[in-house]
Parts: sequence; C-alpha cells; structure tokens
Amino acid sequence: MGCDHGDHQFINLEYCRVCTTCGIAEKRLCLDTFNLCSSPMVKNYSRKLRFKTKIDRMFFNHPKPQPTDPVWVFLQSCGTITCPREVRQALKNSKLVNKHYDNLKTICDCFTDFKIKKEDTIELHGFMVSQFNSIHSAWNFSQNLKFFSYTWLIRLFLTAVKSGYIAYLKPCTSKKRHIRYLRLLDTLMPKCSHLCDKIVNHVKSDIRLYCE
Ligand SMILES: [Zn+2]
Repeated sequence: MGCDHGDHQFINLEYCRVCTTCGIAEKRLCLDTFNLCSSPMVKNYSRKLRFKTKIDRMFFNHPKPQPTDPVWVFLQSCGTITCPREVRQALKNSKLVNKHYDNLKTICDCFTDFKIKKEDTIELHGFMVSQFNSIHSAWNFSQNLKFFSYTWLIRLFLTAVKSGYIAYLKPCTSKKRHIRYLRLLDTLMPKCSHLCDKIVNHVKSDIRLYCE
C-alpha cells in the first residue's frame, strides 16, 4: 500500500526502514549467512560506519592491512620515501589492487620519518563523528540522492579546525565537485544540529570564494 502522497519515501535504518512522509516503519531482520563468525544479524551498508572506519584508520592506525597484504612488500621495495605525498604517488603508480590510501598515516609511520605535531586524537575523532552524524541525519531527511565524498568531509573538518592530519589526505582535485559539495552542505546546514561554528564559517567563506 502506498502513502497518502504517492509512493513511500523510505530511509534505511539499521534494522528497519521508515517512510519520511507517513512514518510507517517496516522491520527488516535477516540473518547474516555470509560470514558465520560475524554477528548473526545482517547489517546493511552504514555510512556512519564507513566514515568511522576511515577516520579510525587515520587516528588510531586500525584496522591496518593484513601482514600478508602485498602493500607491505611493495612499500619495502620502494627505496626512500619521505612524506605522505611521496607515499601517495608511489601507491598511485603501483599495480596494487587495494592501494590502502586510508592507511596513509600507518604507512608513513612505518616507512618515513614524517611526523606531525601531537594532537588530541580522541577528542578530534569524537568531534568528527559528531559532525558527520549531524550532516548525515540532515541529508537522510532531504531529497538529495548523492551523498558527499567521505574524503571531502574529512578534509573539510580537518581544515576547519586546522589539524595537521590534513597532510595524510588526498588534496582536492576537482573544483567542480568541491563546489557541488559546498552547495549541498549549504542547503543542509539549517537542518544540521550541533554543527560547529568553525565548520559553518569555513563553508560560508569557501562559498564566497568559489561560488560568488
Ligand atoms: Zn509513506
């Protein structure tokens, strides 16, 4: 049965889906039969988890590539590499299937002398998760189909708080995409609860810089 307003507009939550128009909720519980060692319930694709895993890798060096992963042998064969930019370049030129860009911090710690100033990573991690959740919720209730690039959001958060961890991120390469995400975030911002002023101001100044 459809909504009063036509088809239901579902958003997928972990174990149910909810129509954002009429509020109908459908339970969706399935067993995970793919991996017998995993938790028994199927977890659908979670943007929050995807984001958290990316920043866990950067701040806490976990999870890291398996010891048997070809990336380690490749990096050992690279000779002297000194900084994140060189590591990124080496990985880019490699024939590796998984280039492990999210583990750049771990790789730099292992293979280079490159260091950034010590920061309170636990606080920074918590801050970034809360900012992401705020944007993600606002996006969930909007009609936008395409989500942000995770790297773009991470870059935005780190830049806004002037964190040295920005060194481990791929620089922005497409101005067009940058502008698209700025505009999207600008439309979502009124619905984002708890968005830090530093981020709001940074987005506003970038919009003035690129879009006006
Ligand atoms: Zn509905």
